[in-house]
Amino acid sequence: GDFAPLDVAAGLESTLNIFGYQLRAKNIRLTREYAPGLPQVRGQVSSLNQVWTNLIDNAVDALPPGGGLTLRTRLAPGFVQVCVADDGPGIPADVLPHIFEPFYTTKQAGEGTGLGLDIAQRIVQNHGGRLEVTSGPQGTEFCAWLPVA
Ligand code: ADP
Ligand code: MG
Repeated sequence: GDFAPLDVAAGLESTLNIFGYQLRAKNIRLTREYAPGLPQVRGQVSSLNQVWTNLIDNAVDALPPGGGLTLRTRLAPGFVQVCVADDGPGIPADVLPHIFEPFYTTKQAGEGTGLGLDIAQRIVQNHGGRLEVTSGPQGTEFCAWLPVA
């Protein structure tokens, strides 16, 4: 579809609806920290929802029952920053350099394609943005920067 101005929090909320069952089944504690009055970004709703889906999917996979998932939006100069954070075990140092490679997965056969982050990163880059990861023993955070409309 075409690029049009859109509200990132609306996309996060519609993506969350899809995960309702999984979040409840795993008793995930969800925190939303949406900055008020954020500008819109120029994007494709379905593509950006695919990004949020892939990031939340990985967080839910990584989290133990009762784990915490945080969705955050904030304004950075010229960009809207969207972060998906989990307080799971983090990404091991030997795994971290490979996670954006297509077909790289640490999951059992049939449980992961290894394409989720490759696709997410390409979509964000197609929007003129970037996707970055920070991970440690306290958990993992993926942040996308998307240019303001
Ligand atoms: P897949 O989920 O099919 O394995 P992805 O490209 O989505 O493929 O992720 C690649 C790998 O990155 C995962 O197999 C996992 O090892 C690691 N990973 C991604 N997100 C997280 C996360 N939130 N916590 C821990 N590991 C993660
Ligand atoms: Mg994945």
